[in-house]
Amino acid sequence: MSEKPLGFDTLKVRAGYESSEHNYSVAVPIYQTASYDLGGVERAEKLFGLEEAGFLYTRIGNPTVAVLEERLTALDKGTGAVAVASGMAAVAYTLLNLAEGGGRILTTPRLYGGTFDAIKHLFPKFNVHVDFVENSDDPETFRRAIGPDTKAILIESISNPNATILDVEAIAEIAHDNGIPLVIDNTFGTPYLFDSFAHGADIIIYSATKAIGGHGTTLGGVIVENGKFDWSNGKFPHFEEPQYLLRDQATGRERSILEVFPNAPFATRVRLSYLAYFGASLSPFDAFLLIQGLVTLSERIDKQVSNALKIVQYLQSNDRVSWVSHPAADGNAYKTLADKYFPKGAGSIFSFGFKGNEDQLKTFLNAVKLFSYHANVGDARSLIINSPKTTHGELNPEEQAFAGIKPETVRLSIGLEDAEDLIADLEQAFEQAFVETYSL
Ligand SMILES: *Cc1c(COP(=O)(O)O)cnc(C)c1O
Repeated sequence: MSEKPLGFDTLKVRAGYESSEHNYSVAVPIYQTASYDLGGVERAEKLFGLEEAGFLYTRIGNPTVAVLEERLTALDKGTGAVAVASGMAAVAYTLLNLAEGGGRILTTPRLYGGTFDAIKHLFPKFNVHVDFVENSDDPETFRRAIGPDTKAILIESISNPNATILDVEAIAEIAHDNGIPLVIDNTFGTPYLFDSFAHGADIIIYSATKAIGGHGTTLGGVIVENGKFDWSNGKFPHFEEPQYLLRDQATGRERSILEVFPNAPFATRVRLSYLAYFGASLSPFDAFLLIQGLVTLSERIDKQVSNALKIVQYLQSNDRVSWVSHPAADGNAYKTLADKYFPKGAGSIFSFGFKGNEDQLKTFLNAVKLFSYHANVGDARSLIINSPKTTHGELNPEEQAFAGIKPETVRLSIGLEDAEDLIADLEQAFEQAFVETYSL
């Protein structure tokens, strides 16, 4: 195999699918089936004994879902992936698979609101606890916060809602010095803009609901791994546990997940434990829709990034805006990191500070016509939202302050419309919000 590896755009259209294996169907077929014929007692024994690869039951694997899994594995140059029903399922299964039985996750307060709330309030009830670093911008604070029970560092490649960027390579090194993996939620980065594994990630999480699907129609999540992390270093005994399910069919000897699936032990363990028994499976139809989205990922993201930069410029020159937080914006504190880690652009989701009072902000949000007012991001449609009261509303005021979310924050996710129309929409909404102040 000395052939030149295929490029990203070829893989996003074709990886993981061979038409000759699917009746020469050009489009990826939707395998709308709960179960699969076992074909005979001998084959059934081999399938259930994991001696032969094949599909058994859609809760743990489906050919349409497998195309999505293989395509993302190819795009991120990983060794395996598992798709689940939502981004939150991907977050939850990842963290439980790391710290089940008790452990700590080290993270930053700059997280998706649902993730923040889950690890702070729900996970401790499962004996999975969280530590937040004091200063996310200083990688050494991660080193100082690692304890004997810390099982992983979790970060987001571009944070929500303020689009800040961490020094990923420095944090990866600290994780690896301490024998723990770096988990990156790359939902905002996307596999197109950010190469997580090249910068030190061991596990990648996606909410495929966002840019991967790209059309705001479908929930999904994916966990990808690159097979490099050493799970046998003593911190993860559940990866070394002999299991009856994994026994050698000839001798009956029980084997561990690491022994049987050395290239993708993490994703396989999520599949055989969490997907199998907690059951948040992605439906074949939803996998099909997410695959449709992936086909145009780069083209959409390029246009969204260029649209976003035009809107950043407009907002930066707007005296009714107190600040604009986009990492590639001139003067932004994260510009150096953005240039290093995001050479193709630092995304199209960012926030700005609205200068008026609360009533003016309400008028402004009610006045936008093109922007949709709702909680999703990464949609082909442009979206606007007042994060402190909505997407991050589960954080109390102190938690919001800790996460750097100011009360005047407005988050934008820029879509595929004409930038000029989006700017005109914001402008007329600003005019309505500030009209009374002017007439005084
Ligand atoms: C939306 C989102 C999630 C959760 O994903 P769902 O698909 O909505 O469950 C997790 N992480 C990030 C960064 C997100 O934006």
